[in-house]
Amino acid sequence: MKSLTAQFWNEYWETMPRKELERVHLRRIRWLIKYAYENSKLYHKKYHEAGVKPDDVRTMDDFVKKVPFVTKDDILAAQAESPPFGGALACEYDDVLHVFQTSGTTGAPLRIPFTHYDTIKYGEDWVYGFWAVGIRPSDSFYFAFGWGMYVGFWSCYWGVRRLGAKVISGGGVSTEDRIRQMQALKPTVLVATPTYALYIAETCRKMGVDPRSLGLKYFYGAGEPGPTALPKLREELESSFGVKAYELYGVAEVGAIAPACPTQIGVHLNESNYHCLVVDPETGELVSEGERGENVVTSFAQLAQPVIKYRTKDVVEWHYSEPCECGRTWVLYKGSVLGRTDYVVKIRGINVYQTAVENIVRSVPGTSPHLEMHIRLDERGMDDMLVRVEADPSVPRDSYKDLSERIAEELRAAIGVRLDVEVVPPGTLPRYELKAKKMFDHRPKERRLPSGV
Ligand SMILES: [Zn+2]
Repeated sequence: MKSLTAQFWNEYWETMPRKELERVHLRRIRWLIKYAYENSKLYHKKYHEAGVKPDDVRTMDDFVKKVPFVTKDDILAAQAESPPFGGALACEYDDVLHVFQTSGTTGAPLRIPFTHYDTIKYGEDWVYGFWAVGIRPSDSFYFAFGWGMYVGFWSCYWGVRRLGAKVISGGGVSTEDRIRQMQALKPTVLVATPTYALYIAETCRKMGVDPRSLGLKYFYGAGEPGPTALPKLREELESSFGVKAYELYGVAEVGAIAPACPTQIGVHLNESNYHCLVVDPETGELVSEGERGENVVTSFAQLAQPVIKYRTKDVVEWHYSEPCECGRTWVLYKGSVLGRTDYVVKIRGINVYQTAVENIVRSVPGTSPHLEMHIRLDERGMDDMLVRVEADPSVPRDSYKDLSERIAEELRAAIGVRLDVEVVPPGTLPRYELKAKKMFDHRPKERRLPSGV
């Protein structure tokens, strides 16, 4: 029986010395490469073309230098060649127990199959974070999402089952009804995307309900930059609901890879299930510890559709040689996900990240949490960004111009470039139940940063 006062969900794994983690990773990577080579046509072809045989990978250096990257486009192409999963699948079709897909807003949807084992491991990813922040089996979870075809919060549900806590489904009802359900059932943990949680708070106030009266103790989000990446958003969530707010960083086709650090400074890669390399998105070369780059992940818990040296396009800053304050030895992604390689804008040589812009805008008094970032080319054909932000209802309309000047000045002071800012009235920008769409890229495709190569 697990002690409820234990600090870790699994101390053995979470505090494993780095050297030992490296040994376990290498052993698993070698097994995984052989498994994928023998069972997945996609990997067989990929490794054959690169001139790599499983036995050639004997050291971590071999893995870094010889094994090719895999991209979402590789998996999509394999699926399109022979639907539904084609050469991307490595297990028997009968062993696929759960199927999801991505939205496919920019093309064909990516199908994501899982074996039963994969779902158990994917779910447990969440539990490491729950336990670390103090959530226990006596807690009850409210799921404010529609139980659709996206794996995100389904995997959270698997995790809550693993923890043994209570599940309250908020599927298929309006925001108002969700609030009434929470009033009646008094859950202690709210699971939602961060911007939808803010919308719940906004709706509560419209209904004359103090969001604090719901009695929640925790917010635990995923799906978009959240309370770790955006401190101002954390303050808003924590003060609105009277909770502690945490987030998990997940990649749908890979796993719920990085649960929360209780210190709220970042999230930790679950190294019992995943291995990562952080690389320069343009050259594919490893970046040093403490630097930013694209997260490249290998999963030991995705046996249906393997992901080995998979380019996530997520920008992270990694730390691994010293244990974290929370006691974990696992890789720390400081500030969680900082942006997407697709949306990095280089203005006069400076990389401008989504979360940096968002943090600065949110810190200016008079702004609301609702904003959009539009990437476009300026008249000289250089990358440029327009930030549209909703004013707080307390700001009079004739002050919008001053407010946009103030925001532009704060951005210039903090990141060293001037961005165009437009302040719009409350309620102008759309609200979303799942991921809020905040980035809009109006550049021609060939002008975007090369990634996924
Ligand atoms: Zn930590």
